[in-house]
Amino acid sequence: MAPVFSFRVLQTDGEARHGEMTTAHGVVPTPAFMPVGTRGAVKGVTSRDLLDAGADIILANTYHLWLRPGDQLIARLGGLHRFMGWDRPILTDSGGFQAFSLGARRVITEDGIRFRSHLDGSEHLLTPEGATDIQAGLGPDIAMVLDECLAQPATADAVRASTERSARWARRCRDRFQAIADAAPSEKGARPLFAEIKGPGPFSGGRQAPLIHAAATDPGTLVTVTNPGQAQFGIIQGGTVPDLRAMSVDRTLAIGFEAYAIGGLSVGEPPDTMYSVVEHTAPLLPAGRPRYLMGVGTPLDIVEAVSRGIDLFDCVMPTRNARNGQVFTSEGRLTIKNAQYADDARPLDPACTCYTCRTYSRAYLRHLFVAGEITASVLNTVHNLRFYLDTMARVRQAIVFGTLETLRRSLRATFSRPLSDS
Ligand SMILES: [Zn+2]
Repeated sequence: MAPVFSFRVLQTDGEARHGEMTTAHGVVPTPAFMPVGTRGAVKGVTSRDLLDAGADIILANTYHLWLRPGDQLIARLGGLHRFMGWDRPILTDSGGFQAFSLGARRVITEDGIRFRSHLDGSEHLLTPEGATDIQAGLGPDIAMVLDECLAQPATADAVRASTERSARWARRCRDRFQAIADAAPSEKGARPLFAEIKGPGPFSGGRQAPLIHAAATDPGTLVTVTNPGQAQFGIIQGGTVPDLRAMSVDRTLAIGFEAYAIGGLSVGEPPDTMYSVVEHTAPLLPAGRPRYLMGVGTPLDIVEAVSRGIDLFDCVMPTRNARNGQVFTSEGRLTIKNAQYADDARPLDPACTCYTCRTYSRAYLRHLFVAGEITASVLNTVHNLRFYLDTMARVRQAIVFGTLETLRRSLRATFSRPLSDS
């Protein structure tokens, strides 16, 4: 099958790039932000809300979907796009970070991550091959390799050992990914099993993804593939040690992926440390491939990373903060429960055109939040996602006009100061 994943840079402003990333489910203008749909839903909103907010791509978590409802169930129902009613691009993480986060409930060996489920205590082993197979079944447009997350602070020796293990796991992930791709249908005439998907899909005239069982490396193993156009990204590790970051780049580029992510940041290090690792690492990555900074960040972090050459971001911040009553506005952050909004007839952000800002007052939103109404989370999330995605649109426009530095200064002024209402 001809590769469907591609990327081209349309415009640059310093190190910043505006481009187009083409995936099996459409084109993503970059730099782009991916709202996080941990368990197959971006908390508080529907796919329709995501479209309204301007989301071009979302992220879902492999760990959660694997354990519940199960990757094979999702595959039988046509894959994650169909399952969650989202026909645009999806990226899934490898599941490693969540498994790692179980702390005492997990053990990491060369084989993979052995852990007890947070749901029922059952024991599981997540291997590089398994993470690749699960993502083949889920069918995102972009799958991530399984990497080892390292508890911080760590010694340089520990970072080195972990970075080397991540490189070995990346090799295993890529081998598995290629074996699955080679066994999937192609002009070369491989003959996989097909099964038609029963029942109506959510998309009229949408893609009817074939359910494919492709024989992978082990002839006795059938791997379910729901998105033959899937790409796989490698992950650069190396902590905050420049030499180890460079080594990780060398090892990961030698394997060869559709694109590359920078992992292991946004784990509690100071922002300047993160910026400096990005500044050192991004230029080592191929200019013609997207660069993804995992788990970042605040609006200011994002524009700082864009100005250092990053194209893709994901973070729970807009959605999680919304549920906690903290909203991002063009005037800075705002805590809706504060008493000063009890009688405030203005919208959350006078500069915003989202449904929440067009329709409701701060006074009403504060009332809903204080009363514990579910709708408070929904409306705050609708706004925060729009703010993030509008910010990305402004970033792309600034790159086109060569004014990113002006935007960066403006966001720094807005988001470096304390809460606007504290
Ligand atoms: Zn709004």
